[in-house]
Amino acid sequence: MKNFRWAEPQTIEQAVALLAKGEGKAYPMAGGTDIFTEIQEGVVEPGLVVDLKAILGLSSIQKDGEGVRIGALTTIADLAADVMIRQDHPGLSAAASSLATPQLRNVGTVGGNLCQRPRCWYYRDAQMVCRKKGGSQCFASKGKNKYHAIYGGGICHIVYPSDLAPMLIALDARVTISSPRGERKLALADFYALPSKNVRRENVLAADELIREVRIPTAKKNEKSAYIKVKERETWDFALASAAVRAIVSGADLNDPRIVLGGVAPIPWRLVKTETSLQGKKITEASIKDALRADLQEARPLQENGYKIALVEAAVSRALLSLV
Ligand SMILES: Cc1cc2nc3c(=O)[nH]c(=O)nc-3n(C[C@H](O)[C@H](O)[C@H](O)COP(=O)(O)OP(=O)(O)OC[C@H]3O[C@@H](n4cnc5c(N)ncnc54)[C@H](O)[C@@H]3O)c2cc1C
Repeated sequence: MKNFRWAEPQTIEQAVALLAKGEGKAYPMAGGTDIFTEIQEGVVEPGLVVDLKAILGLSSIQKDGEGVRIGALTTIADLAADVMIRQDHPGLSAAASSLATPQLRNVGTVGGNLCQRPRCWYYRDAQMVCRKKGGSQCFASKGKNKYHAIYGGGICHIVYPSDLAPMLIALDARVTISSPRGERKLALADFYALPSKNVRRENVLAADELIREVRIPTAKKNEKSAYIKVKERETWDFALASAAVRAIVSGADLNDPRIVLGGVAPIPWRLVKTETSLQGKKITEASIKDALRADLQEARPLQENGYKIALVEAAVSRALLSLV
């Protein structure tokens, strides 16, 4: 590991000022559960690490007239245990509880979860200079691609590994972003960017920007949500595929459904055609299967990951049926 400098700012304004001066070699760190492995393995070589943990006021979950505000430094364990979240947004509780191990949930944060880097084994190998690291090829496209993307790949086939991101997008969450220029707010759905837009990054954050908080609008009457994660093994694991769903439910009818997949594309992947087809419909195994057909036909599996199509069908089906 190469030496690097370390800073512990006390305010978010100090933190973004340090990032701005870092000329692209300064990296923010929250819980460190992701970025430390990258530094240890030589995948990133920071000049300066900006430790965010001393910043006060970014680790609470609060309800106000518009909904819920979740500070970026809130731990995954606190999110999973929050009674109000469990009541109003059970899908988010389920996503947080499904993530990693108790130890990692105690340390890992919401902001870090939404900004974590991909798990692609070619990206995580410092010797493999793939497109994400400035190289000219995606080694997964013709290599070992069992865990890679079936949607949205093209020039780079990573999958976005966050469990919170698809669920928060299904809940229409927005993020507040701080920088030396002030604050901006963005729908979380617009925060992520496909490799065709910028193959080096997975989101639209500039090097001197930080997520400050996540906001979820107040749950509507009869709103329900669920998160189903399919893993290769029962112990901790990333999603092979996951389905985050949210809808207004009356009887067995769904209104205003949102269906967002994790683990199958470089960004959380929304199934808009399935949502449109299910609008106002009775939810049954048959209606879900029928509605999914068009979106499933658009999947473009690689040599070793065609099995993910069946996982998507099962995860979406189980998640939607659990709402009624
Ligand atoms: C063994 C293991 C299992 C895991 N399993 C899962 C899993 O099942 N599901 C899952 O979703 N994740 C999983 N993770 C990934 C990770 O640990 C978690 O996502 C965790 O929530 C990351 O949070 P952190 O605070 O530790 O992030 P850090 O490591 O501190 O940061 C992660 C990235 O986000 C950036 N960052 C941090 N905070 C901010 C901010 N406020 N604004 C902008 N950028 C920021 C950092 O610069 C870094 O690039 C796992 C990790 C490990 C090591």
